Amino acid sequence: MKKKPRRIILRQEGKHHNLRDIYARINEEYFEGRLDLDITWYGNPSFKPKSRIVLGSYNSRLELIKIHRHLDQAHIPHHYVSFIVYHEMLHHVSPPIQKRGRRKVHHGDFKQKEKVFADYHLAKEFDVQLKEQLFGVR
Ligand SMILES: [Zn+2]
Repeated sequence: MKKKPRRIILRQEGKHHNLRDIYARINEEYFEGRLDLDITWYGNPSFKPKSRIVLGSYNSRLELIKIHRHLDQAHIPHHYVSFIVYHEMLHHVSPPIQKRGRRKVHHGDFKQKEKVFADYHLAKEFDVQLKEQLFGVR
């Protein structure tokens, strides 16, 4: 596998969660180690993100996953960070489709693959809690 040229500095260590380890484990467990993506923390941990989108993102051109540092906190469970990483990796595996002239990102196939994640229900439950905490919505 040829290595892509790297344009940005990857920050993977974190205080509570190590993105390199999480990524490597998910890559082995769900993708037979086939994926070759970059991953990095970004943002300020005390900054309150405005939507779920900014907690994690995937840039397909750079093949780069970015995870917001807000998730690098002790009260954020490991399975939740893992789920967000898994979700972003799925964007590579299950790219957006065109349906009736519309671009669908989280389409049926994507959502089906998302449910394969071992702690799917736990992660979804925490997602609701976290959103309530951050945005006061359900
Ligand atoms: Zn997504």
